[in-house]
Amino acid sequence: MTQTPEKSGPDEFDVIVVGLGPGGEHVAIKLAEDGLRVLGVEERLVGGECPYFGCVPSKMMIAAAHTLREAGRVNELAGGSTVSPDWGPVAARIRDEATADWDDTVAVERLEDAGARFVRGRGVLAGGGRVEVGGTTYTATKGIVLNTGTAPSAPPIDGLADTPYWTNRDAVRLTELPSSLLVIGGGAIGCELAQVMALFGVRVTLLEAADRLVALEEPEASAALEKAFGAAGIQVHTGASIGSVAYADGRFTADVDGRSVTAEKLLVAAGRRNNLHGIGLEHVGLDPDARVLDPDERMRVADGVWAIGDIVGRGAFTHVSMYQGGVVVDDILGRDGPWADYRAVSRVTFTAPEVASVGLTEKAARKAGLDVVVATGDLGARGWITRENGLIKLVADRAREVLVGGVVVGPAGGEIMSMLELAVHAEVPIATLLHQHFAYPTYQRAYETVLKDLAGRLDGR
Ligand SMILES: Cc1cc2nc3c(=O)[nH]c(=O)nc-3n(C[C@H](O)[C@H](O)[C@H](O)COP(=O)(O)OP(=O)(O)OC[C@H]3O[C@@H](n4cnc5c(N)ncnc54)[C@H](O)[C@@H]3O)c2cc1C
Repeated sequence: MTQTPEKSGPDEFDVIVVGLGPGGEHVAIKLAEDGLRVLGVEERLVGGECPYFGCVPSKMMIAAAHTLREAGRVNELAGGSTVSPDWGPVAARIRDEATADWDDTVAVERLEDAGARFVRGRGVLAGGGRVEVGGTTYTATKGIVLNTGTAPSAPPIDGLADTPYWTNRDAVRLTELPSSLLVIGGGAIGCELAQVMALFGVRVTLLEAADRLVALEEPEASAALEKAFGAAGIQVHTGASIGSVAYADGRFTADVDGRSVTAEKLLVAAGRRNNLHGIGLEHVGLDPDARVLDPDERMRVADGVWAIGDIVGRGAFTHVSMYQGGVVVDDILGRDGPWADYRAVSRVTFTAPEVASVGLTEKAARKAGLDVVVATGDLGARGWITRENGLIKLVADRAREVLVGGVVVGPAGGEIMSMLELAVHAEVPIATLLHQHFAYPTYQRAYETVLKDLAGRLDGR
């Protein structure tokens, strides 16, 4: 039902959204479309990290890099080919198609067309439903939604801060590539960008402090990725202890476990810092030094204050931010849920092979006290036909005989995962999953073998 906006002063709104990442933008547009008086406040670009510096440009790079990878397989499977990688088309697509040269005019217009008002600037909570932006105080009668997101952060390595290192925000603006690159950080972002660069012919060295890449994922996934990276010529150092970093004569040098590693450029992809400092949390009864906010299932963090996205630490993903935005919209519009549920959060590292996971890892399921049963298998007939390596690992709860998590490592793993997402989300009985038809010879047919193995283990066979 569309409501008629109440008459009020120019600086009074029903809802003020501070920070317009993917979730905040969604909230502002949906509430404005429903007739609420909405103010959106954004200090940088409407849409946040994802469209301008994150998901979209990085996936455009990956799309290009994967065509090079496919071309590289011609020699193995279909004769001969020669490719000449050129970063030019990638840089042009990111500038023109993805980011409109890092200009958010279209996004601002979309917001205003929905009926919201937009103010560019830094929003600071002032208490009592008030937000200050550049000397003006705006008031929200229903509430304030925080979606302030993250900024790149760098580990406290001796000398690093004094060097001209890159973060993701520099990497997406590159117009040409270096001959060699040192990447600090073997999480999703570090791995994705390292592989893109390597496929474009850059000599890449990847340094990760943990004992494996994508350390939050299943160890089997890490091993598969490390094998693929090794085969692609990426120098991977896990368990790396970086003593210092220096920059001189156009080269970076890192002291890694007492050994010197050098490269023309350095990319730091070793973590993000939540934008919570100095936004006036103390004025709404929250800890001003909080590193993360802890909302309830309706995303409320204080009286009349909601928080969504990376700052609530329930999965730093665009789809999580938008999901939480949907919860906030329902709550503010007085709907009856459903409220936030994180049993089946999915995530994809868009490397080759893709690492796509949902729900709990085996370790997390055990930590949660479940009686865990797991089974693992390869990509079956299609994996053999296409000569693509990968695996499926399923994690089940013996008591309920349902899947609580799993990982798919393989080409288009994020797509193959969709059955797994549904199974974990809807708690489909394993017996039901087993009796579906699995088209031959698809990658997803490999689920059948792993499910049979799992069912046998559940039966104690
Ligand atoms: C290289 C890279 C690749 C990624 N790839 C993926 C991917 O493939 N899939 C995926 O799901 N996720 C990916 N992510 C993560 C994704 O970008 C974030 O999870 C997503 O942007 C959601 O973040 P958010 O909603 O918390 O806000 P953000 O996108 O961080 O936006 C927050 C906004 O708030 C603004 N802001 C901050 N403080 C204030 C203030 N006080 N006043 C006004 N404005 C303020 C900021 O300027 C920013 O625009 C990637 C991230 C990176 C860096």
